[in-house]
Order: sequence, then C-alpha cells, then structure tokens
Amino acid sequence: MEREELKAKLKAYMEIPRLSGYEEKMARRFYEDMKQYAHKVETDQAGNVIAAFPGTDSSVPSIMIFAHMDTIGFVITCITPDGFLKVDRVGGVPEKVLQGLGVRVGSENGDYYPGVFGMKSYHVLASPEKERAEGIGNLFIDIGAASEEEVRALGIWPGCPVVYDAYYKELLNDRICGSYTDDASGLTTLLQIAETLSRTPHKASVYLTGTVMEEFNARGAMLAQRKAHADMAICLLGAGAGDTPDLKGSNNVMLGNGVSVNLFNFHGKGTLNGNIIPKPMLEHLKRSAEKTGIPIQRQAARGALSDSAYLQLEEGGIPCMDMGTPDRYSHSPMEVLDLKDLERTGELVIEFIMGIDKNFSLNRF
Ligand SMILES: [Zn+2]
Repeated sequence: MEREELKAKLKAYMEIPRLSGYEEKMARRFYEDMKQYAHKVETDQAGNVIAAFPGTDSSVPSIMIFAHMDTIGFVITCITPDGFLKVDRVGGVPEKVLQGLGVRVGSENGDYYPGVFGMKSYHVLASPEKERAEGIGNLFIDIGAASEEEVRALGIWPGCPVVYDAYYKELLNDRICGSYTDDASGLTTLLQIAETLSRTPHKASVYLTGTVMEEFNARGAMLAQRKAHADMAICLLGAGAGDTPDLKGSNNVMLGNGVSVNLFNFHGKGTLNGNIIPKPMLEHLKRSAEKTGIPIQRQAARGALSDSAYLQLEEGGIPCMDMGTPDRYSHSPMEVLDLKDLERTGELVIEFIMGIDKNFSLNRF
C-alpha cells in the first residue's frame, strides 16, 4: 500500500469518535474497508469485526491479528442547571492535559457537539492552584449551553460519551501527531496486511480483527477469538518510546527505529495480568525481521496490558504477541508516531504470516 494511501487511512481512523462501548461508526467503516479485500467479514454480538482470509493449507496453524477500534475518553456523569457537563474518565486519561482542551460530546442520537474543558482565567490563578492539575471531579465541559434543558434537548444525558477533538498534523521526519493514533495505527496496519493477503497466496488462515472495549476491560479480542478460533494471535499495539528528554533511560525504544515487540508487559495496578511472549513467536519474529531487514525494538514494561492478557487464557492457551508501531505521549490528545515504523510494521507482520508452516510450535517453549 502506498504511503499516501496509508496516511489517508490513518487520518480517517484517527478522526472517527469511538469511545469504548460506542465503536459503531468505526466498526462500520472498518467493516466496509475490510470487505474490499477479505473472503468474508463478520461481526459478533460485542461489535468485533472479523475479516477472514482462508489459507491454502489447513494443516498450518491459523492466526488472528487484531487492533482495537475503541479509544479512551470520558462519560458524562452530571449536567449542571446552568448547562455545564461533569464527566468521569473512561480508560487511562491523563488529567494534567485536560483544562483548555477541545472535546466532542456525543448525544444519544449519535451526533457529536464541540465543547471545551473550562478553566479559570490565568489572570485570577494564584499558587498553588496555578501549578496544580485539577482532578477530573473538579473539571467541567462547556458546550455553550445556558441550561440543563438546552443540553437535554440535544439528546445529551448522563452516560453519553465524550472524546478528544480530532487532530492530525504532519511533523518533521515523517512523523504524525494527533488524537487517537492508539490504535488507529494498528487498524491501518490491518488494512495494509489485508491488501497484500488479498493478492498473495498464504498457507495459514488469517483473521484480521478490529476489536472493541480494549480501553475499558481489555477483553474484546477474547470474545472475537470465540468466533474465530485461531491457533495464535498478534495484538497490534505499539510500545511507548523512551526517546524523549523526560524518559531517557526508561527503555530502548526509539521512534523511527523499527517495529516494537513486547517481551513482557504487566498491568500491576490492581490487575494481575499481562503477557509474556511465547518463545516460538519471538523466534519466528526474529527470523522474519532478519529476512526483511526490518529492525525490531524489544520492550519489557510494567504499567500496561492489552487484550492479549485475557485472550491467552482462551481454549488451550492461545499464544499471543504484542507488537506494533512505537509512539510517544500515549493517551494524550497529541500522540506521535513515525510513518516509516508504521509501514514497516505491516511489512514485518506480512512476512511473519507468510513464514508460518505446519511445524510452527504453539507451545510456550
Ligand atoms: Zn490505549
């Protein structure tokens, strides 16, 4: 897939509002995009979109490759009598970037309205308030309404979704900055893979899947697996790069230096789950990287997990690997990735698929 086409897809996916539980617009778009290439596209009750690319040899293990369609954001908890919205977080939203930020407020009719997180005028702020990030409970969203009735008349109620404003800019050195590259980058990679698979025979059956609810409960892929019944899986989620002045020494992942692979991740914030890479998957990835000349960047990280954590517990234990396009400023409204890494993620996964044969071991070691 040409770079311009890849960029256009990434931009389109980044801009679609799709809070966890409200992935409908994204799911429809992904379904239509996959239909151009796949043998069959199905959805399940949870909203996952599963595109099937049958292989030429049924004795070869099948693989599900997935990226999540949902995003972090907010849920409305209260509408004040004077028409302001109080919200709570959905997923890992950093409170320190919110005041003064543009958002889109969803209604029960599926329409979105522009709004902004309000803040006291700078001129009246004094220390320590001036330096402090307010907790979400002290924040409010202004959509310009003057009363609770005016808000309700739009179909906006407690429970409605709120997401960051759409933003997309091209920075220097092929870098893209904007909202929700997490996980628009993974979905774009799935499309790149689909285009190749549609015109290249491959032994392994492949299920390219857009999943729901990752930022909410990390279990969408688990449900997709109950329909796909794949023998192994790759989760396309890039590692957070450690190449900015504030993160030097935390890890070796750098933007523009290749595809990231997580050898170890672990949530550790009350959730005892994560993923440790099965050896045959890592070895096969290393061989694929060598063959294509695409560098891989290893990461071991505490503080995060993906759907792999739960998917790996399905059936007899599904081998899972987390890999993808590295990013900076993850979960902020301005995530940054490198297009060269994005292109290479798809190319590397395609090589991985093409190299799967009947001797591929599904055991951990
Ligand atoms: Zn995320």
